[in-house]
Amino acid sequence: MVQELKPISKIASKVQASTTLTIDAMFKEMKLNGIDVVGFGAGEPDFPTPDRIKDAAITAIFKNKTKYTPASGLPKLKKAVCYRFKQDFDLDYEPNQIVVTSGAKHVLYTALQVLCDYHDEVIIGAPYWVSYSEMVRQAGAIPVLCEAGEEHHFKIEPAALEAVITDKTKVFMMNSPSNPTGMVYTKEELAAIAEVCCRHNLYVIADDIYSNLIYDGLEFYSLAQFGEDMKNRTIVVNGVSKSYAMTGWRIGYAACNPYLAKMMSNYLSHSISNPCSVSQYAAIEALTGPQNDIEEMRKAFELRRNHLVERMNRIDGVSCLKPQGAFYVMMNMKSFIGKTMYGHVIESDEDFAQLFLEKGLVATVPCTSFAAPGYIRWSYATSMEEIDKGLDRLEAFIKNA
Ligand code: PMP
Ligand code: GLU
Repeated sequence: MVQELKPISKIASKVQASTTLTIDAMFKEMKLNGIDVVGFGAGEPDFPTPDRIKDAAITAIFKNKTKYTPASGLPKLKKAVCYRFKQDFDLDYEPNQIVVTSGAKHVLYTALQVLCDYHDEVIIGAPYWVSYSEMVRQAGAIPVLCEAGEEHHFKIEPAALEAVITDKTKVFMMNSPSNPTGMVYTKEELAAIAEVCCRHNLYVIADDIYSNLIYDGLEFYSLAQFGEDMKNRTIVVNGVSKSYAMTGWRIGYAACNPYLAKMMSNYLSHSISNPCSVSQYAAIEALTGPQNDIEEMRKAFELRRNHLVERMNRIDGVSCLKPQGAFYVMMNMKSFIGKTMYGHVIESDEDFAQLFLEKGLVATVPCTSFAAPGYIRWSYATSMEEIDKGLDRLEAFIKNA
């Protein structure tokens, strides 16, 4: 007889699967089954990892760099991260302020585990990337949303941030350029947000993973750049996944004050031990080698964005703002809510995305999971041909409904 087991952890039992990864898995399976589906689901550059980076990894393997490394990363990689922070953002960090782990996702997760106690509140600028709220809950803390709508270009304002701060607020998390909105905060906007964070003595997690993907000649600013007090309270998160087309290598990193870095490193020493050694050698080359390959990719993303936004706004019933960074567009589909399409009443962006996948054979992500109902996220980290195919299908999907 098999006995009924005790319930698993309350925290774990409430965790939802990542929508982005679920849709990506569905898309890849449909493709494997020979279905002609077009994918705008996961935010993953379609470019191959540059050869110079792959060569560095192959060399590392043949030089037997295949053993454990320090938990928070190789000293040489930490130096390389410091070098990039200085070059790219004029931010000074020492290697003892750097923590490297398996992807920026795990950096964020570790930072929240280290900062939060049960019932602490973490403010998240919304719309937000789906994993933020789940990671906060996994740390036993409470996600509190600070929302901004399309009329504010999806950017939160300092007064709105201040309005949700309570005596339980511990951390503020933000992401610019943003996933899913693609919006980029200006220097002035960030300065005003930084002032609120300092005045209320909050920790800040600045997710700068898309810092290299900025268009229209705009300049990137990190929240850590707004004075010593702000830098001291900020954990800057970045990594190689998006900028260097290295999503599968799983290398992300944080820069923060030495105490927080030490605490994160201790935490990691009992969880993952260290990120993959070979990937770390690849990341050293990514960060210290010639950077022209990333500029080529950035330019390609900018052209794709221009084309996608321009064509999407010519299609009846949908519209989008022109994002200035990352590789996402949020399509407003609110005009379809309450309408019948293919015999189904569309009650939400989730219904629309589901039907668009089934009938239109296009994979996109409904934005309810990003706290932005009424929108559909398109990742344009795919070729121009696929973008046109997807938009052709959107037109036909709407017309034939
Ligand atoms: N932050 C944001 C905003 C992201 O979109 C992603 C995408 N995966 C990550 C962090 C995590 O990146 P990584 O692949 O390095 O874990
Ligand atoms: N961050 C990407 C996305 O939003 C990759 C998938 C994931 O890790 O969520 O699609």
